[in-house]
Amino acid sequence: MIIITPRYTIIEDGAIKKLEEILKKLNLKNPLIVTGRNTKKYCKFSFDMIYYDEILTSEINKQNYIEYDCIIGIGGGKAIDTGKYLAYKLKIPFISVPTTASNDGIASPIVSIRQPSFMADAPIAIIADTEIIKKSPKRLLSAGMGDIVSNITAVLDWKLAHKEKGEKYSESSAIFSKTIAKELINYVLNSNLSEYHSKLVKALVGSGIAIAIANSSRPASGSEHLFSHALDKLKEEYSLEVNSLHGEQCGIGTIMMSYLHEKENKNLSGLHEKIKMSLKKVNAPTTAKELGFDEDIIIEALSIAHKIRDRWTILRDGLSRKEARRLAEETGVI
Ligand SMILES: [Zn+2]
Repeated sequence: MIIITPRYTIIEDGAIKKLEEILKKLNLKNPLIVTGRNTKKYCKFSFDMIYYDEILTSEINKQNYIEYDCIIGIGGGKAIDTGKYLAYKLKIPFISVPTTASNDGIASPIVSIRQPSFMADAPIAIIADTEIIKKSPKRLLSAGMGDIVSNITAVLDWKLAHKEKGEKYSESSAIFSKTIAKELINYVLNSNLSEYHSKLVKALVGSGIAIAIANSSRPASGSEHLFSHALDKLKEEYSLEVNSLHGEQCGIGTIMMSYLHEKENKNLSGLHEKIKMSLKKVNAPTTAKELGFDEDIIIEALSIAHKIRDRWTILRDGLSRKEARRLAEETGVI
């Protein structure tokens, strides 16, 4: 098994100016930039460029990309995800240059443009310009918090799967991932948030690296992600016009799943309240209404979440609709 972790990670104001220097260090000479229409303004380089939606709408013909030796994704979640996907298809390295921090895909090896998501290679370099990220839409930065609190329930679920199903478990990855989340939660609850954007991007990068090291999304994706994927599935199935974000859905999932863990473990008492408070503090949604879903959809998502993928979690063999309703009500989600 070959595990790829980033060779260069730069998180600072003005980081994007170091892109060419990093390319030189990596001996990469002919990159192709993948970006979005809103983030094109950050691509002030003399390299070829393509919009991510142009890649997604057609089959990838490798012959068209033969001259490139790496892909640079500059932009939000979709540009990064598509760039990572293209690099994987072309078997060339990927450099991640996020312009916001809404999920841990900025550093992880996971490609999630379509479900089911799959494991590609982690970026060879991550260049996160905190000056740019600070100016990105507040809503995206709020959503990022939801993808970080997820680590808490993801790790609890992973431990549970180890105990109840003998699943392979890495204590070091688990502690790394959990600590990242705990530190950000404590920072958010005890500060005026002036450094939030920078702490958040560091946490998301760390979270992505935890996934790369574990070679599994387990450290950062458990029942709360199953709930979010279930919501995505229902959005598509019922053609719901809800524009909720991945991190927002995961955050609400984490409130509910941590409550389920709390019920089985006294040491966790108060956990879901703390998570909810941290989400509220960064203005992330904590209720179905704020997320834009009717309560019936939340209940349905909760009751199908365990079937989304073969992953043992606190949901075990699933919640009945009655149990799902009670969970959503007791946590104030509906
Ligand atoms: Zn996620």
